[in-house]
Amino acid sequence: MPAFTAVYIVLSSLSGVLNLLIAIYALFIRGMVSLRRIYLLLCGSFVLYTLGAAFEKASDTLTGVLFWTAVQYAGMPFAAPLTLLMALELIGKPDLLPRWAKRLLFVIPTVSFALVSTSSYHSWFYREMRFETVDGVRSIAFDMGQWYIVHGIFTSGTLMLSLVLVLIRLAQRSRGFKLQLAAVAVGIAVPVASSLAYLLGLSPYDVDPVPIVLCLTSALYAWAFLRADLITIVPVARDSVMESMGEGVLVMDADWRLLDTNRSARLLLPELENAAVGGSFREFGLPAEASAAFHAALASAGQAVPFSRGQGDDALHYEVYSAPVPRGAGRRGGHLLVLRDTTERRRLQEELHRLASVDSLTGILNRGAFLSQSAEALAGCVRAKQPCSLLLFDLDHFKSINDTYGHEAGDIVLQGAAALVRQRLEPGMLFARYGGEEFVLLLPGCGEEEAVQFAERIRAAAEQTRLALPDGRQIGIRASFGAAASPAGSLPDYLELYRRADQALYQAKEQGRNRVVSAGAV
Ligand code: GH3
Ligand code: MG
Ligand code: MG
Repeated sequence: MPAFTAVYIVLSSLSGVLNLLIAIYALFIRGMVSLRRIYLLLCGSFVLYTLGAAFEKASDTLTGVLFWTAVQYAGMPFAAPLTLLMALELIGKPDLLPRWAKRLLFVIPTVSFALVSTSSYHSWFYREMRFETVDGVRSIAFDMGQWYIVHGIFTSGTLMLSLVLVLIRLAQRSRGFKLQLAAVAVGIAVPVASSLAYLLGLSPYDVDPVPIVLCLTSALYAWAFLRADLITIVPVARDSVMESMGEGVLVMDADWRLLDTNRSARLLLPELENAAVGGSFREFGLPAEASAAFHAALASAGQAVPFSRGQGDDALHYEVYSAPVPRGAGRRGGHLLVLRDTTERRRLQEELHRLASVDSLTGILNRGAFLSQSAEALAGCVRAKQPCSLLLFDLDHFKSINDTYGHEAGDIVLQGAAALVRQRLEPGMLFARYGGEEFVLLLPGCGEEEAVQFAERIRAAAEQTRLALPDGRQIGIRASFGAAASPAGSLPDYLELYRRADQALYQAKEQGRNRVVSAGAV
């Protein structure tokens, strides 16, 4: 065997073994799923091609040559579309070609393989095949059949396109992965250039140099991918992002069965800790509210569905929404359920709402909150066929308190008056600061007489009260009251009640203050 043939066999075998080792390595590392699969298939096609080439060179019968050529074609034609798919993944545009188009890419390679493996029965791929010896180096000489041309154009076209895509990306990227992309570009360019040299008859002894240079290509790819950590770090990083997210994530399959959860999801809903993978969310042992919300979220993709667990101040509030997970190759899609703890937000909202409805000086309801709450209370009285009363009171000679003791003392009196009434409130009563030093009370279920009695108790208590000022002086509270009631069964009109109570209050002031006047007596 001439030295060149031996070297060729050794180099292409080496290429094959190297590819095999890389493929085995890639098989065992966790990976960016789609890129790793393409890369594995690519390595596999290189293995078939390079080992086939080595054995073909070592064969001395035409049958052997034909067999090992078929083995090469089980790999080589597929390498071109796989390279294109790899390039699409690398440039971050895996969906540039739809799935059917990606499948279509493998039609020509399949036909090539079929024709090569049956080439002794027809001449579509090879015409006229014979051993030829040039300077003692034996090679196969053949004339190209029609399909060989189709195969050649397709293969070089696909590889050129892959190269162009990587080069465009290389030109765009300002930083990061530049060297890796360059290595991939060289990895694609080297076999393309070699096969061009071969076709132009520039190759020494007229042998196909591609199986040998693929050794370099696969080394470059392996370096690029492992160096760029695309295969190793990216998925691990994705995992850790998912694990460290504050939001809970549940990965569900198309049939709403649980595939995975992250740490936050298990913290938010401890039942998930023991949820079996593959279980339906009804089986997680979740509270009914949660599983109903999960169901609703899955049924209405993207819409946040609120739910709570527990009661009162200890209640926890959540929000869940679902996002579809697109279908992977050959697989059905699934869903992500994203879970958020909204308890804090809810408490803040409630606090804001409370603040918006409360008078900051006295801590009792403000006018707006009183108006909206009294509308509900009045409606309740109508339903229950109960009477309802309204009390208005206004502090007496308040201006002179301000003038004599100062504005701060006036504030203390306002707070004292509010506290005094507050202590005597009964369930269902509404009490608010209506304006400056004017207060209002709604007494559902109370008729005019009861309302007058209630007002009288407050007036008397105020009369007894002495408030201490910071400077040690003491001050009393005096107020005048107007009461109005709507009789049981009649539809109480708030404005009418207010107008009558205000008239009664006016009368109380007129009659000398510090007294209660009922509208019925006006
Ligand atoms: P009357 O007995 O007729 O009610 O006399 P009055 O002095 O109370 O008269 P009026 O109701 O007109 O007085 C309201 C005063 O209340 C005027 C205003 O300076 C004072 N005032 C209103 N809001 C506040 C407040 O928030 N703090 C203090 N200190 N004074 C206030
Ligand atoms: Mg007033
Ligand atoms: Mg007043």
